[in-house]
Amino acid sequence: MACFVRPFFTLSTKRSSTRLFYGAAVKNISYVKYTCCRQLQLRASFQSSTSVHSVNLQTAQQSVDTKADSNNNAVVTDKPAPVDIQKVFLKGLTRVQMQRWLESLGEQKFRALQLWKWLYPPQGGGVDNFAAMSNLSKSFRNKLEQVAVVDSLELENVYEAKDGTKKLAFRLKNRSTGGGGIIESVLIPNESWVTLCVSSQLGCAQRCQFCYTAKMGLHGHLHTAEIVDQVVIAKRLFEKEKRISNIVFMGMGEPLHNIDNVLRAIEILLDEQGLHLSHNKVTVSTSGLVPEMERLAKETNVNIALSLNATTDQVRDQLMPINRKYPIQVLLNTARRIYTNERSGQKLFVEYVMLDGVNDSIEDAKRLHMLLAGIPCKINLIPFNSHEGATFNSSSESKIQFFHEYLTQKGHYVFTRESRGQDKMAACGQLGKPRKLSVSKKEYEQNPM
Ligand code: SF4
Repeated sequence: MACFVRPFFTLSTKRSSTRLFYGAAVKNISYVKYTCCRQLQLRASFQSSTSVHSVNLQTAQQSVDTKADSNNNAVVTDKPAPVDIQKVFLKGLTRVQMQRWLESLGEQKFRALQLWKWLYPPQGGGVDNFAAMSNLSKSFRNKLEQVAVVDSLELENVYEAKDGTKKLAFRLKNRSTGGGGIIESVLIPNESWVTLCVSSQLGCAQRCQFCYTAKMGLHGHLHTAEIVDQVVIAKRLFEKEKRISNIVFMGMGEPLHNIDNVLRAIEILLDEQGLHLSHNKVTVSTSGLVPEMERLAKETNVNIALSLNATTDQVRDQLMPINRKYPIQVLLNTARRIYTNERSGQKLFVEYVMLDGVNDSIEDAKRLHMLLAGIPCKINLIPFNSHEGATFNSSSESKIQFFHEYLTQKGHYVFTRESRGQDKMAACGQLGKPRKLSVSKKEYEQNPM
């Protein structure tokens, strides 16, 4: 997988560097604290591998977080993220991990299931505090309060579009990566169910040219708990008449770039003792990270949405730089192998954003048919959703209709996706808020902490 942003701890040791990434707290960051940050980052990696995410006072204090503005986007504020002592994010633990963790605290195994039921009732989302867990003894609740956190996100704002789509802006409560910030999820009501589109990263490194989130760059991976909490809190607040039954990893970020946390979150979301979502109602999108696609197919049986968007390498190289590493034939050969041989229950969706004059010619339609011949998939045609600074326009309705009809005639299953939530910047490719991520040494010296 291509990573276009170097890790924080590498850059953080270079005093002379004029560009800082990942830290997000660019304006307030202090060079003298870089060594500390490096240690924290290394520790965070270790903790991430065991799924116990703790936070650090110093890192949290360094962070500059973001806030949603009147245009519904995340913007920078200098307000530090809430500070916490070192605690475990409960929703970063699978059920087995929770059992082990409780045993390490001297508690009995059955406590894990008790706790799990409070966090993940199948309907309506779980409680947000330990006091509400009424069948747990007071001493156990007090003990938990000292060492663990129930929610890792705080709902900052809700923006409702005319069509009923809701964009939810969540503040990351604690960031061991030193970022702080706001992530966005989108609730999309349908006739009898609701789909929730979740984010997997704060920003994105993949630089797809048609995507607004890409302009943010990557500020950090979301922890497992921060992914799971988007679902739990949305269910708690909005699951009324209709069930939130479909989850799509199509919000901010490339999910397969953060595959460890995404896989663990999926395990928690599908757990039959908890939310018990159906694997065929969960879809993970990717810009085309081939090794991680293979891993996803091996380790889960959820659906995958492959964002293709071009029929020649020449065009895809320009639209999606990941194509220079994994060209179209490599990508589609992998998809063909995975979805015709290895797995039968998983669905493959091929996403195609329709860009006027770029990928919507008759030749493109013909090539798309040839490329996908023999691959069992559904093709989603997506009208381009514009945003500030966009250099593309959506294809005309007649061109989209031509694509739809041509591919259907050729035997493909085709769906033209309706654009939802555009007036609140909640539609596909419109999430997040790009902002300046770098600061020169001179700027820093003029405005130190
Ligand atoms: S389309 Fe997806 S992978 Fe590409 S930059 Fe946007 S968020 Fe990242």
